[in-house]
Amino acid sequence: MTRQSSRLKKPIVEKTTTTKPAKSKPTKEIDENEEDPSIEDPKTTKKRKVAQSYVKEEDDDEEEEEEEAVVAEKPKAVKKRKTTKAKKEDSMVLAQRTVVSTLKKSMYIGAHVSSAGGVQNSIPNAVNIGANAFALFLKPHRKWVSPPMTKEAISGFNSQAQEHKFQVCNHCLPHGSYLVNLAQADKDKAQQAHDAFVDDLMRCESLGIKLYNFHPGSTGGDTKANAIGRIAAQLNKAHGMTSNVVTVLENMAGQGNVIGSAFEDLRDIIELIDDKSRVGVCIDTCHTFAAGYDLRTPEAFEATMSEFDKIVGYRFLKALHLNDSKAPLDSHRDLHANIGTGFLGLRAFHSVMNHAPFEGLPMVLETPIDKPAPDGNGKAVEDKQVWADEIKLLESLIGMDPDSDEFKAHDARLQKEGLGERNLILKQVERKAAVDAGKSKRGSKPKKTTTKRGAKGKKAEVSEDEDDSD
Ligand SMILES: [Zn+2]
Ligand SMILES: [Zn+2]
Repeated sequence: MTRQSSRLKKPIVEKTTTTKPAKSKPTKEIDENEEDPSIEDPKTTKKRKVAQSYVKEEDDDEEEEEEEAVVAEKPKAVKKRKTTKAKKEDSMVLAQRTVVSTLKKSMYIGAHVSSAGGVQNSIPNAVNIGANAFALFLKPHRKWVSPPMTKEAISGFNSQAQEHKFQVCNHCLPHGSYLVNLAQADKDKAQQAHDAFVDDLMRCESLGIKLYNFHPGSTGGDTKANAIGRIAAQLNKAHGMTSNVVTVLENMAGQGNVIGSAFEDLRDIIELIDDKSRVGVCIDTCHTFAAGYDLRTPEAFEATMSEFDKIVGYRFLKALHLNDSKAPLDSHRDLHANIGTGFLGLRAFHSVMNHAPFEGLPMVLETPIDKPAPDGNGKAVEDKQVWADEIKLLESLIGMDPDSDEFKAHDARLQKEGLGERNLILKQVERKAAVDAGKSKRGSKPKKTTTKRGAKGKKAEVSEDEDDSD
């Protein structure tokens, strides 16, 4: 696979034990004995399949499985060294975690990992891809209610965090449920949203997690001011019912009635929060770009970030989601692409990785890792090696000269990789713009634009290709 060549130079990792990256097959194969992952030795044929059943369990909707999985307890890693179980876990390591202090900047990079089988499993899942930060769902995100976390899940999470030296208070960023809309006007539905939201915050507090990321909400056709007022009221109430978790508003791409694509939306919500220490912002690079804020060149990046600082303020910035974008600037499409393959490109991520104000914040990949199944049955399987490689690639950008051949080679390779997808989405966006332009010419009422950046007639809901929602 071409992705592997991104691992040319690696920052220092914790141990020298390394793993062999997956080749064309999504099922990872590991060679325990291999010393250097950058040297591909065709002679090493002694590979073994990595705990297939464990990998497989996440093929399905992982979050739906969460409840049942409490019964089928999975690896818990509280065992002593070198037990069979420990060895098995070792063998699932796709990349070693980089010691952050060896990087030129303290960047904590990870991904949104699975918590199937219970929250305690998220930490080994993060460790296995070499993550120093991670996101997870605290409960099945497509269900309104779910049973409380078990004592085992909580203590397992804590002991895993301790064992792997994860500061979950700083570098763990759970993602809220997509069902919850804190701007909901309907009384009963607002109560339902409130209950689910507060339940998540309480889960954070019992796990020692300090940051909680969520989507601000949707106006549902009401005015933005009213919707923002309801979000803030819900947050104030939730803060009163909990003690210290920080509610982190994610900026959005700006489809339809969604709130949070303009920095002003975030500012307006924060303004109404009583306890400012309980609210923050997460910048999603894909959403930012799709919402119309350019990040591609160093100048554009600086301009966007200083606009953010001016409107919202760095003091509220608590986290980042690192995603490239399959859709062009200001398209209001939420389509995450792998790092460097999208319209943002690797130069944007070079700027991100070298931006001092981002030091110490959790940075979470939400990039696609689905690959076609090896048996061609049409069902996609996850290849977590993609995240392991993206983390190493991003870390390698810290201090890298963007004019170097090394950078240019990465950039060219990744842009080539994403060309087909970019062209596809670009055509969709252009077609949509043409249709919208035609509509407004005929005098049909254009869909209400919710941000100043959406004022190009491209604001209406997109139906051709389902957008991401994270
Ligand atoms: Zn995101
Ligand atoms: Zn999100």
